[in-house]
Amino acid sequence: MNLVLFGPPGAGKGTQARVLVETRGLPQLSTGDMLRAAVKAGTALGNKVDALLTKGELVPDDIVIDIIAERYDQPDCAKGAVFDGFPRTIPQAEALDSMLSVRSKKIDVVLELKVNDKVLLDRVEQRIKEGGILRSDDTPETLQHRLGVYYKNTAPLLAYYGKQGKVVTIDGMAPIADVTQQIAAALDKKG
Ligand code: AMP
Repeated sequence: MNLVLFGPPGAGKGTQARVLVETRGLPQLSTGDMLRAAVKAGTALGNKVDALLTKGELVPDDIVIDIIAERYDQPDCAKGAVFDGFPRTIPQAEALDSMLSVRSKKIDVVLELKVNDKVLLDRVEQRIKEGGILRSDDTPETLQHRLGVYYKNTAPLLAYYGKQGKVVTIDGMAPIADVTQQIAAALDKKG
């Protein structure tokens, strides 16, 4: 099964993706994690994208499409994957559809984690209170910017996948265990 975890920054996509790794044995394909790893390792790619990540801007489509295609061809993705933070633009969604279709695969379901902006901002403030700033883009100011980018570039994907009848909306403001439960129910229904 190939599924997309969809939602604004801080909605809990990473948290739920990690649960799915455990419960469904599907690998988590997070472009954000891959890009941060490249920055940390100081690779040419990392140096190229570092400033964009810190500012909360999107990395160019061709870069993330390439890293996803390379990752998806690893053997652990044979039974599918959990796409987390990808796709984020219509061209990325189209590239993903064609990448899967040439491999006789498809996106089975898009799980939309719905969380309102105020809750996202409260969450970032809470994280900073608890642990300080652990990620260069995890500040209230950058989150505001990333939300703007989300509504402009990423939210239109809901209509794209809606037309394909693939979107299941999950209440992302419920406690983590309830969100996990809603996702499990949605996936079990899909078979
Ligand atoms: P995330 O960890 O998914 O919140 O991503 C962190 C940052 O990585 C984003 O704010 C972007 O700068 C970059 N990034 C991650 N995934 C993508 C993507 N699919 N397209 C463009 N930029 C991305």
